[in-house]
Amino acid sequence: MSTFKAPKGTYDLIPPQSATYLAVREAIAAPLRKSGYGYIETPGFENIELFARGVGESTDIVTKEMYAFETKGGDQLALRPEGTASVLRAALEANLHKGGNLPVKLWYSGSYYRYERPQKGRYRHFSQVGAEAIGAEDPALDAELIILAVDAYKSLGLSNFRLLLNSLGDAECRPAYRGALQDFLRGLDLDEDTRRRVDINPLRVLDDKREAVQRQLTGAPVLRDHLCEACKAYHEQVRELLTAAGVAFEDDEKLVRGLDYYTRTTFEFVHDGLGSQSAVGGGGRYDGLSEMIGGPALPSVGWALGVDRTVLALEAEGITLDTPAATAVYAVPLGEEARRELFGTVTELRRAGVATDFAYGGKGLKNAMKSANRSGARLAIVAGERDLAEGIVQLKDLVSGEQRAVARDAVVEEVRRALG
Ligand code: ATP
Ligand code: MG
Repeated sequence: MSTFKAPKGTYDLIPPQSATYLAVREAIAAPLRKSGYGYIETPGFENIELFARGVGESTDIVTKEMYAFETKGGDQLALRPEGTASVLRAALEANLHKGGNLPVKLWYSGSYYRYERPQKGRYRHFSQVGAEAIGAEDPALDAELIILAVDAYKSLGLSNFRLLLNSLGDAECRPAYRGALQDFLRGLDLDEDTRRRVDINPLRVLDDKREAVQRQLTGAPVLRDHLCEACKAYHEQVRELLTAAGVAFEDDEKLVRGLDYYTRTTFEFVHDGLGSQSAVGGGGRYDGLSEMIGGPALPSVGWALGVDRTVLALEAEGITLDTPAATAVYAVPLGEEARRELFGTVTELRRAGVATDFAYGGKGLKNAMKSANRSGARLAIVAGERDLAEGIVQLKDLVSGEQRAVARDAVVEEVRRALG
């Protein structure tokens, strides 16, 4: 061990478990790639003001969780706590919305940083794969994103997750609801912070995780009773499209993303095997966000799925992903000259697309064979000087233990055949 440890609230992804993380990222991205989403990558930090406006001044993320810093040049930056604001910023900056081809559909994958109280499933550095569809208001688009997330979870073999769904209304119907909710909340026994939140962002109070708050919320006005006709019709279409696609959901009127620019569809995926950090992903419509960060009106919808919690969900369901062995063939030279020669064969196999590794460091046969077995390889190629002089190598099946001599210049072909 060195003097240093990973910072509090972080952990390293290390083989062989790291292969699962890669596979999860790929599984979430695969349905997006096949549905018209293009890959976008933005910096790990942004001007802090982007998050203040694009995530919201009154959110926990901005008030408590952001890694903010000033650069030597005096810029006020923050490590990204989430992806949507950055992706929208980048899309606007590149004028993607002006190509006459809306919606602009983008997906991303990366690291996010929040100064949180670390616990299982809640880290200070974590990974998300996300998707955003920018510049179109169409219930089919909301449904598409939800279906793609469900398909991703299913492709991983997950089944113990639920989709919670709600509509937050829009600029027409939400203000009246907001007022009614504020009236209700002002009659409750709440601490000072929460009372302030009632003024700035009352919907967010519905999302308060504390029992003492939740208890008082029984009988709170619900948005469903206040939705305007257009929002009702929109939401009904999303629900119908999901049902037609065989996607089950639960209506959850307490599910909020309580910012003024979040509108209509909002949803969260929860997994029932994760204890209190049960949210594996979430998203929704954010029709007002573009204007909040100085862009034109661009109704949009997106989600972000947590990679770390998806891996925990796999563990909770006892699912081991079928990640292909990193090494298919392991080459073991016997002696110095064989070493040089066989290394050439290794390169040849690699160039032919066969995952191959080599017994480095001049180990003896016994140790080298141990390494071969540990590598997960199906085949070992063993060769001494005498074999090579005869133009052959020994091809050993590490599962059956069978061994036979094959011509050295036919080794790629023989290996391919043996691997099937
Ligand atoms: P929570 O209510 O658990 O704090 P959140 O609402 O802050 O979640 P989002 O901002 O919607 O989460 O992020 C989307 C997903 O990213 C979450 O569903 C979760 O899977 C993951 N995520 C968020 N914060 C963390 C974290 N600190 N550590 C690990 N994963 C996280
Ligand atoms: Mg959070």
